[in-house]
Amino acid sequence: MADPKGFLKITERELPAHRPVDVRIQDWREVYEDFDRGTVTKQASRCMDCGIPFCHNGCPLGNLIPEWNSLVHGHDWAEAIERLHATNNFPEFTGRLCPAPCESACVLGIDQPAVTIKNVEVSIIDRAWEEGWVKPLPPAVRTGKTVAVVGSGPAGLAAAQQLTRAGHDVTVYERADRIGGLLRYGIPEFKMEKRHIDRRIAQMTAEGTTFRTGVDIGTDITAERLRADHDAVVLTGGATAWRDLPVPGRELAGVHQAMEYLPQANRVQFGDYDRAPLNAEGKHVIVIGGGDTGADCVGTAHRQGAASVTQLEIMPKPPATRPDSQPWPTMPMLYKVTSAHEEGGKRIYSVNTLEFLGDGEGNVRALKLVEVRRTDKGFEPVEGTEREIPADLVTLAMGFVGPQKEGMIEQLGVDLDGRGNVVRDADYRTSVEGVYCAGDMGRGQSLIVWAIAEGRSAAAGVDRFLTGAGSDLPVAIAPTARPLV
Ligand SMILES: Cc1cc2nc3c(=O)[nH]c(=O)nc-3n(C[C@H](O)[C@H](O)[C@H](O)COP(=O)(O)OP(=O)(O)OC[C@H]3O[C@@H](n4cnc5c(N)ncnc54)[C@H](O)[C@@H]3O)c2cc1C
Ligand code: SF4
Repeated sequence: MADPKGFLKITERELPAHRPVDVRIQDWREVYEDFDRGTVTKQASRCMDCGIPFCHNGCPLGNLIPEWNSLVHGHDWAEAIERLHATNNFPEFTGRLCPAPCESACVLGIDQPAVTIKNVEVSIIDRAWEEGWVKPLPPAVRTGKTVAVVGSGPAGLAAAQQLTRAGHDVTVYERADRIGGLLRYGIPEFKMEKRHIDRRIAQMTAEGTTFRTGVDIGTDITAERLRADHDAVVLTGGATAWRDLPVPGRELAGVHQAMEYLPQANRVQFGDYDRAPLNAEGKHVIVIGGGDTGADCVGTAHRQGAASVTQLEIMPKPPATRPDSQPWPTMPMLYKVTSAHEEGGKRIYSVNTLEFLGDGEGNVRALKLVEVRRTDKGFEPVEGTEREIPADLVTLAMGFVGPQKEGMIEQLGVDLDGRGNVVRDADYRTSVEGVYCAGDMGRGQSLIVWAIAEGRSAAAGVDRFLTGAGSDLPVAIAPTARPLV
């Protein structure tokens, strides 16, 4: 146990401060100040090592949280990363980007602030990289079996690393020009610097994983050819079909999908552009959608020098504290102030977009909205509340409706569920022999932690299929499992 009285001695959560807003919006680096390791150790000592650690259940990866809290408290960081890597291939991704359902399930959180689990996690892996403890782990024996992983987001990377380490010859096919999926092109640098992905790709390459970018399966290589050339296929192509907003004026220049806008800003950081062609500089920016993607648009627009940034959300403003309807240990839907929101802008809740208005030359100039009230039948407009707000750039961050069907999925003919996602059984097998599926492509739009958990679990299924025997690879989560919400 970390410290039997730790939670009595230290009752407050302490987390890294964010760099001052006026400084950080001048650059794209991560927003955090450096954090003292002594404070992390003290925070880890608050863990009560509960008899039933609900945090394990809250974390889709089943991370062994009390074990590494105890090791950090005991200054054994090298052993802590061993325990962390036992369940999570990429703690530097989750430690930065996870909404931390584990903390919502922390027993201490019932009547005190929860343990800072996510920050302990990222501190362990950051130190491990600094100390040189993270090394390639190539397999001792190769099986001669070949696996194609389609898509290089967190699900594909986790599946590929597990299967390579099990001795199979794994090739990751990615249609984009760089590896990483949404980690690379969706999530901005200020949330996670891309050097963290590059370092993992170097490790995976040294372990024997092959990466092929610029290859669209279904176009450049047919699905049939892919199956013929490999003993197994893992589909990890994500939920890339975005939700649109078919209102009058949608066709106007200046109205774009978030995933048209964000990748360009990321590409500037990689040196592909000097300046993003879709740019918020000097513009009144409207972001439609109140989730993570919307917040990423807000932070990006601030850094590009927007004249104003307004985020619209159709749902009512969530409560600041856990409501009775979402009791512990569920993950409640709460009002969140992300780093992007600290940087400015305005958030308007309970509004719907009626129309985009043009300037007569094909460009958007304003957005017409109306306040809405939620009823049993859906959202109803509130009479007399229509108004216009100026808009030079609008980004649609309203989520994704599932995987792209044309191309690979159609060619494979895998069964889809009622929501259009790829159906998997308990072993992550699709309806087509030798074809498996993990991450957003099967689960629908979700989270990085789920993608890694599913990638790891699908790898175990593939390994069993290839060897015809049991697999030593761990299963993190069943495909039907849902978070505690
Ligand atoms: C802007 C944004 C911000 C987000 N922020 C967070 C966050 O802070 N925290 C969090 O937990 N989650 C966040 N998410 C969600 C998270 O990124 C996803 O849940 C996660 O990346 C899904 O992983 P995946 O591996 O299933 O798919 P993806 O990351 O979508 O990767 C799929 C990859 O497959 C490739 N591909 C698809 N089809 C083919 C094909 N036919 N041939 C070759 N390649 C193909 C795609 O190009 C893509 O690179 C965010 C999502 C977005 C859009
Ligand atoms: S991966 Fe997410 S849920 Fe799991 S321990 Fe880390 S922060 Fe918590």
